Amino acid sequence: MPLLKKLILHFFPAILLLSYSATAQVFDIIPLGCSGGINEDNLSAWLVKAKGSNRYICLDAGTLSYGIKLAAAKGNLSIINVNDTNSPLTQMLRQGIGAYLISHAHFDHIAGLISISPDDTPKPVYSSASTAQMLTRHVFNNATWANFTDQGSLPQIGRYNLKEFPDNQFGLIEGTPYRVMYFPLSHANCTSSAFLVNHEERYMLYLGDTGADEIEKGNNLEILWHKVAPLINSQQLEAIIIEVSYPDPRPSELLFGHLTPSLLKKEIEKLRDEINDTSAVQKLSKVLFIITHVKPVGGTLNTDIIKKQLDELNISGFRFIMAEQGNLYRNDQFEN
Ligand SMILES: [Zn+2]
Ligand SMILES: [Zn+2]
Repeated sequence: MPLLKKLILHFFPAILLLSYSATAQVFDIIPLGCSGGINEDNLSAWLVKAKGSNRYICLDAGTLSYGIKLAAAKGNLSIINVNDTNSPLTQMLRQGIGAYLISHAHFDHIAGLISISPDDTPKPVYSSASTAQMLTRHVFNNATWANFTDQGSLPQIGRYNLKEFPDNQFGLIEGTPYRVMYFPLSHANCTSSAFLVNHEERYMLYLGDTGADEIEKGNNLEILWHKVAPLINSQQLEAIIIEVSYPDPRPSELLFGHLTPSLLKKEIEKLRDEINDTSAVQKLSKVLFIITHVKPVGGTLNTDIIKKQLDELNISGFRFIMAEQGNLYRNDQFEN
C-alpha cells in the first residue's frame, strides 16, 4: 500500500474525531459558587455560555461578586476586556450576564442576587411561578429588601423583570441566544427546578437542589430522565450539573431533599436504562457530570469523601468531576 494512503487510513478516524469535537462542544460552564451552605462566598451560582457567544446566563445566584472575581483571576471569563478600566464584576454585570435563572428561593441560591441588586443593570429573572412569588413576598418586598423587581409590593424599582417559564416547552431567554426548558424537582417541602439549556443543536442540563424519587415519593426525576435520555442517545447533551449534598450513609429523615452518592447511583442507572440503545453505557460516558452542592458537616466539606464514594460505586458509563469554584468546565477538556 502506498505510504500516503496508509497514513490517511491510519489517521483518518483521528482527524474525524478531532473535527467533530472541535465543532461539537459548545458550552463553557463556570461555577461562581458550588458548595451547599455555610460558606457565604461559595454558594450555588453557575455561568453558562456557548462558544462564540459573549452572553452568559447565570443559573442560580448564591455567590456572584466573589465568584466573578475568582473566575476572572483564574482567566476563565473570556469576555473580560483587560483594557477596560471597569472591574471584571462591572463588565460582567453590564455586558456578560444576560439573565438569571433561579431554581428555587432558598437563600443559598439567591443571596448573591440580593446583594448585587443595587449595582446591577436591568435583567430578566426567570423562575417558576412559585419561586417568583417567594421572591416578591419574602425577599424583594420593601421590608426585608427594596423591591428591585417589577412585581409585588410598591414601589417597584423594576430592575429585575420577573419572567415565568412556559410549561413543557422551550422558551427563549431574552437578551441571550439560549432556549431553556424548565422541569420541577422535589426538594423536601420546596419545589426546586431543573433547566435544560439549548443552543443550536447542543444541550446541557442543570439541576437545582433535588431529592431522589424514592425518598421524595414522586417521579420528577423519572420524567426528567425520560426527556433527556434521547439527547444522550443522539449525543447532543454535553453536561449534567447535579448535587450530592451528603456522603453515605445518611438516614432518610436527615436528607432534607438532597442526594447522597448511593441515591445518585440509582438515579443514574434509571437514566441509563432510559437510553434506548445497545451502547447506552458508552453514550452516557460522553456526558460530563459535574457534582455540586456538597454540604459542610461540622464545618468541613466532604468533597473528598463524596468523590471516593462515587468512585467506589463504579457506576457504568458515569464520568464525573467534583465542581471547584471559579474553574472552567467544557465537555471536550475531559477524556471519555
Ligand atoms: Zn435548597
Ligand atoms: Zn441549596
